[in-house]
Amino acid sequence: MLLDLVIVGAGPVGATLALALRDGEMEIVALDARPRGGSARGDRSLALSHGTRLVFERLGIWGEVASGTDAVTPIAAIDISQRGGFGHVRLDAAEHDLPALGYVVSYRALQSALDSALARSGIRVEHDVDVTRVDATPAFAEVRGKRHGEDVEWTTRLAAVADGGGDVVRLRRRRHDYRQVALVAKVWTRQAHRGVAFERFTPEGPIALLPEGDHYGLVWTATPERAQDLIELPEGAFLAALATSFGPRIRGFARVEGRRSFTLALDLADHVVAERVVLVGNAAQALHPVAGQGFNLGIRDAFELAQELLATPRVQIGARARLAGYARRRRADRWSGISFTHGLLGIFGADSPLLHWPRGLALTLLDALPPVKRAFTRAMLYGLH
Ligand SMILES: Cc1cc2nc3c(=O)[nH]c(=O)nc-3n(C[C@H](O)[C@H](O)[C@H](O)COP(=O)(O)OP(=O)(O)OC[C@H]3O[C@@H](n4cnc5c(N)ncnc54)[C@H](O)[C@@H]3O)c2cc1C
Repeated sequence: MLLDLVIVGAGPVGATLALALRDGEMEIVALDARPRGGSARGDRSLALSHGTRLVFERLGIWGEVASGTDAVTPIAAIDISQRGGFGHVRLDAAEHDLPALGYVVSYRALQSALDSALARSGIRVEHDVDVTRVDATPAFAEVRGKRHGEDVEWTTRLAAVADGGGDVVRLRRRRHDYRQVALVAKVWTRQAHRGVAFERFTPEGPIALLPEGDHYGLVWTATPERAQDLIELPEGAFLAALATSFGPRIRGFARVEGRRSFTLALDLADHVVAERVVLVGNAAQALHPVAGQGFNLGIRDAFELAQELLATPRVQIGARARLAGYARRRRADRWSGISFTHGLLGIFGADSPLLHWPRGLALTLLDALPPVKRAFTRAMLYGLH
């Protein structure tokens, strides 16, 4: 049977794409290597932008995402500063007449809410399917994989690859290794967070503390060696090292749990479309988490692709001209997200004393010039298109 769409990977981006298509007439199947109800990743704190909330509201899934106790923590303000230099910016939701600048949600809680929404939607989702490759002809794509050791195969007009790495297709990619890792953990402090997120640029790289439930989600950028040392430290010594690196903006680090690290790289597909194939989310572009852009960009990929598919007559699904049109429409948003993140690291990531002054100036100007601050806040809220 010729399907209209096979979605490879029902992670947050693949699931959002499927849900955005649930009211259409398309024959869809979503495949995931995870067992039903399982999570592909260790947990992590995701920063959802206000724009992503609007997409989830439009798809009728925000209620589900936000329904658990402490499932979603609103970010009332973002405090940006640098260690060892002047300059400080505070972005406040109230200044923009918004309920929140964004929301912190755990990857697992989000995945489980999207899984429930998918189960109710009637969309076919097949778990325990490890897709091994996607091949294409001008007329259709073939998606091959294994389920419990058995070969399985689907034929489709279009394969949307949302596997988080683009590993199932042979397309040229570019990779910039930041030679850094993100150490992530849950951190409790003696004072309540009151919804304030912190981004602190230090000579070693940025440290982010995201308010989440009764604690902070920590993302601490460091060299792999330093991160490994930090992971192995006893709890008290780790908290003391965090206090030293973070400086006085937060006092009273009291407890830490779940220290792990992830390699940080910019990993991009040269092209997001190919014959009968489209890449979305991290499969198209995996960004450094410093600016919280990657996940939100992926959700916009899914939403925009769904709008394109809903407007496409069935026989033209996956046609070259249609895919090229989609890629053209995504180009500005995609490249703005990539350059904003990479540029922020260029200005704030390097350890050069000569950069402290311009960095301080950038932060001070950002705070002092309302239009610039508004533009920056808008970028954090909605992305950069
Ligand atoms: C430390 C860290 C912190 C981050 N913090 C933030 C943040 O604060 N804000 C932000 O915007 N982003 C953040 N990100 C990025 C964010 O995690 C990703 O943008 C997001 O997970 C991408 O979703 P996705 O659905 O594209 O891919 P994934 O989440 O990787 O999901 C891929 C899915 O595909 C399935 N799959 C994979 N391979 C196969 C296969 N061969 N066959 C079948 N199924 C397959 C997996 O089981 C999984 O369900 C962070 C990343 C890191 C590393």
